[in-house]
Amino acid sequence: MPTTPTNPHLPFGDDKNAPWYGKDILSVKQFSHDDLQYVFGVAHEMRGMVERLGTFDLLKGKILANLFYEPSTRTSSSFTAAMERLGGSVIPISEVKYSSVSKGESLPDTVRTLECYADVIVLRHPETGSAALAAKYARKPVINAGDGVGEHPTQALLDAFTIMEELGRLDNLTVTMLGDLKYGRTVHSLARLLSNFSGIKLNYVSPDILRMPRDVIEEVGQKGIPQAEFNALEQVLPDTDVLYVTRVQKERFEDQAVYESVKGAFVIDPDVMKAARHDMIVMHPLPRVGEISVDFDDDPRAAYFRQMEYGLYVRMALLAMVLGKA
Ligand code: ASP
Repeated sequence: MPTTPTNPHLPFGDDKNAPWYGKDILSVKQFSHDDLQYVFGVAHEMRGMVERLGTFDLLKGKILANLFYEPSTRTSSSFTAAMERLGGSVIPISEVKYSSVSKGESLPDTVRTLECYADVIVLRHPETGSAALAAKYARKPVINAGDGVGEHPTQALLDAFTIMEELGRLDNLTVTMLGDLKYGRTVHSLARLLSNFSGIKLNYVSPDILRMPRDVIEEVGQKGIPQAEFNALEQVLPDTDVLYVTRVQKERFEDQAVYESVKGAFVIDPDVMKAARHDMIVMHPLPRVGEISVDFDDDPRAAYFRQMEYGLYVRMALLAMVLGKA
């Protein structure tokens, strides 16, 4: 039998001793302060590599199953782009109605199927806890791409990376979260994640019925982070370093009349932003549906489009980590 020659241009084998090799990414609670520095370091390197090379073969031969039971533009396409920029390939399943899910297949059976073909599974699902359930059945790593109103850990990691790249620090910041803090899973993850840093102050501004859940406030409070709730932005905007705006999550309301009553509660526009500092940034996980006026888009403080690009580098870092290449 001919032996396979070693190709010096191909990447080394999987490093099974790498700290994140084979791990699931289900919640930001898994990440310590040091882990976060590590992720941001790898993401920063990915940024440099993409700028220099565009695409490179770190994950050549690896396959990602991108399994989306809820709509997505950014998360789904950035995971696809991340895998392809690393030389890997993707099985996209975003129209679950055309898959066996529509025949009644359970989530455990679907992930057990996909892991026969793929090395890593990215899952978005409407139920809180679904990613943890999938991970229980899968032998391959599962990455939570949003589980209902629960968490969206990769979004929080890219949000924090955005703050780091834009403001140069994650300590000593006043972060104001605005909008639907009850159903917005991105703020649940981001508040928890930021509680790893010192000198962080969190303001929560929302309509009364959309306040930050008590369990998140308690968890963050246990880390000694000062938090305060408001229903108007004026009081906190002048001191804010990061204004994190969210969409009112229409799809989570049982009564659409209630949604209509709160959907326009806050709108960020150039006039409102006159009260904010010049060295702060405005972020949004997107999509926006009116809570940030397009008239603000050209303001240098509008970081929400740059934020999407940072997401690519963070997702490249996470894929490389769980596949033993970082
Ligand atoms: N894209 C984000 C998410 O999936 C934010 C949103 O949908 O409002 O949670």
